[in-house]
Amino acid sequence: ATPTSIMVGTGKGAENGILIKGAEHLEHAHKLTTIVLDKTGTITKGEPEVTDIVPLTGFDEAELVRLASSAERNSEHPLAQAIVNYGKRQGVLMADTESFTAIPGHGVEVTIAGKRILVGTRKLMQENKIEFAAAVAQIERLELQGKTVMLFALEDRLSGLFAVADTVKEGSAQAISELQKMGIEVWMMTGDNTRTAQAIAQTVGITNVMAEVLPEHKAEKVEALKKAGKVVAMVGDGINDAPALATADVGFAIGTGTDVAIAAADITLMRGELSGIVAAIRLSKATMRNIK
Ligand code: ADP
Ligand code: MG
Repeated sequence: ATPTSIMVGTGKGAENGILIKGAEHLEHAHKLTTIVLDKTGTITKGEPEVTDIVPLTGFDEAELVRLASSAERNSEHPLAQAIVNYGKRQGVLMADTESFTAIPGHGVEVTIAGKRILVGTRKLMQENKIEFAAAVAQIERLELQGKTVMLFALEDRLSGLFAVADTVKEGSAQAISELQKMGIEVWMMTGDNTRTAQAIAQTVGITNVMAEVLPEHKAEKVEALKKAGKVVAMVGDGINDAPALATADVGFAIGTGTDVAIAAADITLMRGELSGIVAAIRLSKATMRNIK
């Protein structure tokens, strides 16, 4: 490989908001067979908004919003932020929290006024032996709309549901279609539940979905694809994505995402758009043609 063409390629990338950390990444990008996209913040904007609040068993809605937003105030998760922002807009008086535990990939456990509150997934409720069978139909109806549903329990009783929706980035579907036309297999990988993930995948033309993947398992999924002989890129924005970004043959970070993801990645897409992946692969191809 001639250093000059690589330098030119890297420079062209930079002009287009594609920051390539080393020459080898530009040399690898044209060999990719498989691209794994994180959902939240990568395919979608990562700015979820509360769309539905469902108090259960006669629980007071205002109290539900107050307790949930107080409970999520200490969490940095975008879903937590959605609930907190909603509470703030409603002007709730936040309650003090006596203890707070984040359970990655599941939710939060918080104590307010001596009472235990859980906000999170069905799995979180299962693990805490909280009955939610009566709410399943409502949960599934919301998930089929591509919304993420968080369950709220107070003192071992399911008392409400919060649904949030995140908007797909404008260029996502187009970029995914271009990657597929290049013969690349495109996957979505997310910690979110299968129904929500499938609904979003469908709107952007992805049929390969890995859902309910816990943060600590994302890298293993990438490793498994590599072991199956694929040349794999991972694209992500979150702290959770960092190990998978480092494991992939080429890691792409969304430049508007977390510093941890950017540090773990080989290439950063400064504009935060998936079209940057298409551009990087084209640049890699062009650069390698000049070298040969
Ligand atoms: P993603 O891959 O979309 O970033 P995560 O692995 O971070 O997802 O989380 C998976 C699921 O766990 C979320 O869809 C949500 O249901 C639940 N969850 C995670 N953190 C929280 C939180 N702070 N509050 C409520 N639910 C949460
Ligand atoms: Mg993300």
